[in-house]
Amino acid sequence: MYINPQLSYQTLGTLETFNCHFCLYAFHSSDLWYCEQCFSCKNCFGCVGLRNKQYCIFNKQFKKEEYEKEVAKIIAHMQKTGEWGQFFPVEISPFPYNDTVAHGYFPLSPEQVSSRGWKWQEREAPSGKPSDMSFPEKIADVKDEILDHILACEECGKNYKLQRMELDFYRNMHLPVPRVCPDCRYDARMELRNPRQLHDRSCKKCRADVRSPFAPDRPETIYCEQCYLEAVN
Ligand SMILES: [Zn+2]
Ligand SMILES: [Zn+2]
Repeated sequence: MYINPQLSYQTLGTLETFNCHFCLYAFHSSDLWYCEQCFSCKNCFGCVGLRNKQYCIFNKQFKKEEYEKEVAKIIAHMQKTGEWGQFFPVEISPFPYNDTVAHGYFPLSPEQVSSRGWKWQEREAPSGKPSDMSFPEKIADVKDEILDHILACEECGKNYKLQRMELDFYRNMHLPVPRVCPDCRYDARMELRNPRQLHDRSCKKCRADVRSPFAPDRPETIYCEQCYLEAVN
C-alpha cells in the first residue's frame, strides 16, 4: 500500500513517511528525527544510512526505554541551544552557498556569506586567450578538437571550455554547442522560473478564487484546476 507522507515536517526527498521531521531522504519510515538516508526505520534520532532499524541514536542501538530517555535529554539540550525545531544548519552543508539554488532565490555577496560562516567558492574560468576558431552551428559538424579550445562567452565574455561528456550529450540529443558560459546558461534558466509569490486571482472562465504565481498585470490567462483540465482534455 502506498502511503503519502503524513505528519512530516521539514523533510526533503521522502517517500511513505509518517511523523518524520528534519530528515533528508527518509523512505518507508516513521518517527525519525534529524536522519539522513534512512530506509524502513522507526524511532531513530540523528542517524545516517540505516535500514530496518529501530531505537537508534547517532547510529547506535538502544532499548526502547533508554532510547526515549536519551532522546528527551538531547531535545532538552537542543531547546537550550536553540537548535530544536530547526533544520540542519547551513554551516554544515558540504556545498558552497553560491553552488546551491538558495543563492538563486536569495542572492548574497561573498562577504555576506562568509560573515554568516557559510562556504563560498569562486568558480575558476579557464585562463588564457580564447580561441578565434569559429565552430559550426550544426552539432553534427562539430569536431572533437573543440574540446582543446578555450571559448569566450558571447554574453559576458568569460572563458569556458566544453567537457567530453558534455559534447557527447549534445551529440546524442542533437543540440548545438552553447555559445554562452555555464553561469550565463544557469542565469537564463533561473529567469524562466515563476516567482515564489502567490497572488489572489480568479478563474477567467468560472470566476472561482485561485492563487497563482502570475501577478494580475501579467498577460497569462488564469484558470482554476477544473476549467484548466476541461480546456486541455
Ligand atoms: Zn557568460
Ligand atoms: Zn474555473
